[in-house]
Amino acid sequence: MASTSRADYDAALERARTAFASWRAVPAPRRGELVRLFGEAVRRHKPALAELITLEVGKIGSEAAGEVQEVIDICDFAVGLSRQLYGLTIASERPRHHMLERWHPLGPVAIITAFNFPMAVWSWNAALALVCGNPVVWKPSEKTPLTALALQRVLESVIRDFGDAPAGLAQLVQGARPVGEWLAEDARIPLVSATGSTRMGREVAVKVAGRFGRSLLELGGNNAMIVAPSASEDLAVRAITFAAAGTAGQRCTTLRRLYVHESRYDALLARLRRAYASLRVGSPFAPDTLVGPLIDRAAFEAMQATLAAARAAGATVHGGERVTVAGHEAGYYVRPALVELAAPIEASERETFAPILYVFRYQSIEQAIDGNNAVVQGLSSSLITQNLSEAELFLSAEGSDCGIANVNIGPSGAEIGGAFGGEKQTGGGRESGSDAWKAYMRRQTQTVNYSSTLPLAQGVKFDVE
Ligand code: NAD
Repeated sequence: MASTSRADYDAALERARTAFASWRAVPAPRRGELVRLFGEAVRRHKPALAELITLEVGKIGSEAAGEVQEVIDICDFAVGLSRQLYGLTIASERPRHHMLERWHPLGPVAIITAFNFPMAVWSWNAALALVCGNPVVWKPSEKTPLTALALQRVLESVIRDFGDAPAGLAQLVQGARPVGEWLAEDARIPLVSATGSTRMGREVAVKVAGRFGRSLLELGGNNAMIVAPSASEDLAVRAITFAAAGTAGQRCTTLRRLYVHESRYDALLARLRRAYASLRVGSPFAPDTLVGPLIDRAAFEAMQATLAAARAAGATVHGGERVTVAGHEAGYYVRPALVELAAPIEASERETFAPILYVFRYQSIEQAIDGNNAVVQGLSSSLITQNLSEAELFLSAEGSDCGIANVNIGPSGAEIGGAFGGEKQTGGGRESGSDAWKAYMRRQTQTVNYSSTLPLAQGVKFDVE
């Protein structure tokens, strides 16, 4: 698909700016109504949109449908939110004064998205930004232009029929890194929400900070799970296989490092190897497939290079080879890999966006938590245990240092109700539920004096004749 030209980009930004002037004055619950209607339209088109995700990204049917459901869920959330953009009233120290904290719309919000959630990530941002009074400008991954075009068309048709929504409210610009760079550098955009690799986030953050804009970064993960002595093996095996091999290992929250207590290691590894060998790798259109293809050849080559590096560092590798799928010979299908390690190596400390699970033994929960925290990324983490003390330690200030910490579920598959995001080199941003909406608004502290005198704060005297 052709990249948006600079002239067309500038025209899109001007349309968004014009739209902001009127959209910010539309009452928030009315803005929520637009998002409600958009969610309804997505419900109607759910099967077609899901099929397009499968076609373009290779997600299996149920995961593609789940992604569209996430779009619907965040719309529902945002509709409620549109009546709950609460500020505070604050006690003033001066007589007959009152103080308020109010939240106002910010301006056009740029949304740069990764290939692996080609609809959901945009919707987490767009649904909130729209009810907060902001136009949106979307630059999808250059690998997923079609899903973006389809979802954008659905929103545009709802905007067209709405009445008091300005025409330029939602813009789509297509292209690779250069178009993303235009957005990062553009002073017309007060907030750039960028999802992708840590490399990308580092470049965007510097550019946006250079012009004193705000960035909301959702970057790479290197997520761990701890399997404790009391863990249910059935639960652990299901949680591990979905989190590590689901979506062909191409989720930011994919399980990449597994810490197994030494008392459970041999039995669990044997069971995992059997489960991995039986995973159905194949066409994402086949109803019984669990693992579809990698996004492209570069992803396959990166996976093979990482496995070679692990072998060279002394690891034992099970699986990871290319799988030929009849009728899809050009696709890059792989058997998910299990990699046994005695200690972390360079490869296990970085994110390879493919189904590779590094497995370690541990002796104490403290040692396992240290392992969980010993990487530069800080997105998601989980612990499988029946032991309350271990669970509480893991969730405490001395526990996981990630943005997401789960007990008795895997690290992936978040719900939209919670704030989503991670610490350290995952970027620190929070999207989706809870109070993530505050990133899309500007806060204003207001003081009103309804007396006829002018007392100054802190008892300061400044009397003039
Ligand atoms: P990527 O970094 O290659 O690209 C992501 C987006 O950024 C694309 O739209 C791309 O065109 C754009 N881009 C790249 N360089 C840019 C630059 N210098 N300036 C502006 N824009 C730029 O990532 P990808 O391969 O599409 O996606 C996989 C990565 O995304 C993984 O690291 C994964 O963990 C991460 N991810 C994170 C989250 C999260 O919420 N934390 C969610 C999904 C994916």
